[in-house]
Amino acid sequence: MKRIVFPGSFDPITLGHVNLVSRALRFSDEVVVAVLDNPEKRTAFTLAERAALCEQVFADFPAVSVLSHAGLLMTLMEEEGTRLMMRGLRDGEEAAHELRLFQIYHALDSDIETLYLPATPETAHLSSSAVRAIAQAGGDISAWVPAAILETVRSHPWH
Ligand code: ADP
Repeated sequence: MKRIVFPGSFDPITLGHVNLVSRALRFSDEVVVAVLDNPEKRTAFTLAERAALCEQVFADFPAVSVLSHAGLLMTLMEEEGTRLMMRGLRDGEEAAHELRLFQIYHALDSDIETLYLPATPETAHLSSSAVRAIAQAGGDISAWVPAAILETVRSHPWH
């Protein structure tokens, strides 16, 4: 049984995240979307809101579970009984950042393994920060976020 953890901020979840999860389901039995609370990042949506949005998006995906976690990612991996996680790579800058993150995770737990999925050309431009900027300015985000959460994101009280 291959379970893979997909950690991130998901502030909010985009069609880029969904693309990654769908592709991971081709080689894993279960994807655990782990919505993290990173004290260094001020998010537009609370941890509970970000997790609720992910739950709405994956409501019809029996092989996808969603959880939120406020502590160390390593602790969550241990609790979930898997040493495997995945991250996406949109460009070289992200690859450099991810490589540094991996070295930190490896120093904390040398059994942790990370799989990197490159963004597809159709989804590489999708990011939560762009969604926030467009939605806040009243722009159309229907090609950026799943239909299930479109209204919630659109009507979010940005401040
Ligand atoms: P974090 O703050 O941990 O980077 P994000 O929610 O921004 O959280 O991203 C979580 C993961 O999803 C990261 O590995 C990121 O590269 C990946 N990701 C986000 N958008 C895309 C996309 N459009 N294509 C591929 N991967 C993506």
